[in-house]
Amino acid sequence: MSEHDPTACHVCHRHAIGVGIGFTHSRDTNPKWICHECALIIEDVRRVRNFDAYEIKTLDHVDEKAGEYVGELGKTDMASMSELERRMLWKTVVQEFGNGLRSLIREGAPF
Ligand SMILES: [Zn+2]
Repeated sequence: MSEHDPTACHVCHRHAIGVGIGFTHSRDTNPKWICHECALIIEDVRRVRNFDAYEIKTLDHVDEKAGEYVGELGKTDMASMSELERRMLWKTVVQEFGNGLRSLIREGAPF
């Protein structure tokens, strides 16, 4: 895999690079490619057994950060936001999903 191949990160679902977490058994064909930011915490990522719990918990972080962005705009109605403001809201959601997930993984959150 090259950095230019369109593959999603196994952890945060952003653009993956040519680094994988590894195979889990001999019949496994997916090395679970990850992105640059997740590669920086690869040893912590390898310890995670249930990503679903981390993803659900991360929604609290995303909700908080998206709320902060909307609060800064002073707008709660999507129809009143400009196209740029809406796009920045979705960018905030996507980026903060990854940031929140990596933060929980680094902390080794017990839940
Ligand atoms: Zn990632």
